[in-house]
Amino acid sequence: MEKRSKVILKSGKDQSVLRRHPWLFSGAIKKIIGNPSEGDVVEVFNNKDELIAVGHYQIGSITIRILHFGDAVVDDAFWFEKISEAFRLRKEIGVFDSDNTNVYRIVNAEGDNLPGLIIDYYNGNVVMQIHSIGMYNARKSILSALERIYDNKIITLYDKSENTLPFKGSVDAKSEFILGDASNAVVSEYGLKFHVNWVHGQKTGFFIDQRENRRLLMKYSKNRNVLNVFCYTGGFSVYAVQGGANMVHSVDSSSKAIDLVNENMKLNYPQANHQAFAVDAFKYMEGIQNKYDLIVLDPPAFAKHHNVLHNALQGYKRLNQQALEQISSGGILFTFSCSQVVSKENFRKSVFAAAVNAKRNVRILHQLNQPADHPVNICHPEGEYLKGLVLYVN
Ligand code: SAH
Repeated sequence: MEKRSKVILKSGKDQSVLRRHPWLFSGAIKKIIGNPSEGDVVEVFNNKDELIAVGHYQIGSITIRILHFGDAVVDDAFWFEKISEAFRLRKEIGVFDSDNTNVYRIVNAEGDNLPGLIIDYYNGNVVMQIHSIGMYNARKSILSALERIYDNKIITLYDKSENTLPFKGSVDAKSEFILGDASNAVVSEYGLKFHVNWVHGQKTGFFIDQRENRRLLMKYSKNRNVLNVFCYTGGFSVYAVQGGANMVHSVDSSSKAIDLVNENMKLNYPQANHQAFAVDAFKYMEGIQNKYDLIVLDPPAFAKHHNVLHNALQGYKRLNQQALEQISSGGILFTFSCSQVVSKENFRKSVFAAAVNAKRNVRILHQLNQPADHPVNICHPEGEYLKGLVLYVN
């Protein structure tokens, strides 16, 4: 094994490691023995010279992403075991080998004890998004683990890390095919069909994390007039039709997304009473008084950093107020935030403020989150990014 650099923590700064938090910040480090390059596996020692973890070294405020608490050799066998563990969970929760669903997340970064690594599965095709140089350097081992796990049946492995890696200059990463060359597929989610294009689409191509929430929406859709705002490829819209909606309108500012909504609707329900509009959400919602009795608000992350938290909360308030003021009596609002820095409590407070301003009687029917194939490591609460409320509005 090549010699690994040693990172020695300041006295008391091993607390977060004892609490099994996977990140170590630069301020916790007393000294580094050796000269690690970005992405190298390093050893972490406490102030008593005890080895307490191994992790990926990174330049930046999160200096180490822990791969293992205690000592470990990080080789092909290590990666195979870690990814197999993530895979076993997908078997447990029933997304692997399901009759009607062939789209799911295989690896959810810290939630699967693999910090910086996202892997999604699209009907035989695998898409990776990597957030650390260490994980990027491990791509070959990750690929061979996946090939073993899927018995060499992976059609395509696409690495889409060009825009997710930090300091990408240092590895000059380009998004690329590592195996195969398919850029799109039709996937099935609870029997509904969706076109997914991982090369041109947003994120890895599809918002897999809304699967269970879309399914819940289906139950509330019967005979309702539905507005799906920030619809992207129309997941909620198709489920609304499946649930018996009277009419469905989809809104997204991206005209490419609107084309995809229409395609996905055609794939499932060519005769649906559905229309899609490529317009700004805030603008569209200025004139929807009493037109809808089921509204979905699933905006992009309004805050990517803590310093813009206040503006983000104002954004959620404004958006929800528009919907709450105008939704018909007896209406149902599905409202979401996918900003990691916005806590469940803060989001709820924004929606509460919106309800007060809108002067409506609002009751919470459900509190939603991300599905089981996006697990949250209990030691890493930052991983809980998706939150939603289902509201009954009089
Ligand atoms: N609900 C979707 C995912 C939404 S992603 C699903 O289940 O798949 C957020 C979407 O908001 C993106 O498609 C983006 O194009 C759109 N968007 C961003 N800003 C917008 C705006 N101001 N008005 C309308 N749509 C917007």
